[in-house]
Amino acid sequence: MKNIILTGDRPTGRLHLGHYVGSLKRRVELQNSGKFDEINILIADDQALTDNADNPGKIRENIINVVLDYLSVGLDPEKTTICVQSALPALHALTFYYLNLVTTARLSRNPTVKAEIQMRGFADEGLPAGFFCYPVSQAADITAFDATVVPVGEDQLPMIEQTREIVEKFNKIYGETLVLPKAMIPENETQRRLPGVDGKAKMSKSLGNCIYLSDDAKTVKKQVNGKMFTDPQHLQISDPGHTEGNVVFTYLDAFCTDEHFAEFLPDYANLEEMKEHYRRGGLGDGTCKKFLINILEETLSPIRAERAKWENDIDAVYDIIRAGTLKAQETTNATLARVRKAMRINYFDDRAIIKEWDKMLKAAKQ
Ligand code: ATP
Ligand code: MG
Repeated sequence: MKNIILTGDRPTGRLHLGHYVGSLKRRVELQNSGKFDEINILIADDQALTDNADNPGKIRENIINVVLDYLSVGLDPEKTTICVQSALPALHALTFYYLNLVTTARLSRNPTVKAEIQMRGFADEGLPAGFFCYPVSQAADITAFDATVVPVGEDQLPMIEQTREIVEKFNKIYGETLVLPKAMIPENETQRRLPGVDGKAKMSKSLGNCIYLSDDAKTVKKQVNGKMFTDPQHLQISDPGHTEGNVVFTYLDAFCTDEHFAEFLPDYANLEEMKEHYRRGGLGDGTCKKFLINILEETLSPIRAERAKWENDIDAVYDIIRAGTLKAQETTNATLARVRKAMRINYFDDRAIIKEWDKMLKAAKQ
């Protein structure tokens, strides 16, 4: 069996540090590992419409932003297929068939969707059916590419679980057809779900608590210095402080390496030593934040520079997603044909159906 990756993002905004540690960084490593036969990245614009139906302009604008973010972190169109969901009609057909393999009760139990419904106020305003069913469309995305591995943040685990259930049910009813995928989440626990700068559970475009990959150095500094609350009991530098639940330390857990200490803060050999000093008292928040800003800058400045280059060549970017989408059309159409064949609803592929109908009609007369 081939080793195939499918992953993607909703074009609802520019990509942020949560995407970077939760998924993008890993994608680039996997892309360059040479271990995969195919890497596909889907810009999930249809999924983005499920909670933005009144604002397709926002989705359109962010398609280019998301591709620019991809290219600037090092995703390489020579090795990775970047494609746009709405231009892949096979995905719509697959979603329609898979919807019959899940119950509304099962969809209601999805913890991520539950939290997102809450966050968007859909519980009071009314829940768009498309939003409620988006885990099923994700199953279509994943299976259409025959993906074996799906690198995602932790919030996506219930979606992969849902996909696996659909695959198992489909294969049981119609025969072995679809590939069972596996989620791949970051080993570093903080990277699986990076909190927002406000300390809220998840950095998310929808919560407006992000540091974007394309933010300039001044904005990054402002976000760290102005939005990140440390430990409210750590008033004087000499006071003992808490590192647990302290968003600056959570970010350091996600981003810093021992090399960063050698480079920017040689007083300590590693994060554990720094944390011990903070807990004992005597280490100021300003020093911690400055260290974090240095680390973030080291990560972000090459990304920013690469983005600036691509921004000057939008024609080339357009050609990249057009070519990727055409390629993905072939892949996903082939899966749809296989699915229809397995379900025996491929009526117009084969005139043998006429014989079958004829036999049935004759038998009914006898
Ligand atoms: P939205 O608010 O529109 O849902 P989002 O910020 O949650 O946007 P998505 O496009 O839904 O971003 O997620 C794309 C990928 O990035 C998924 O694999 C998701 O798990 C991962 N991801 C998103 N936010 C984070 C985060 N804060 N930490 C780790 N991974 C994340
Ligand atoms: Mg999301």
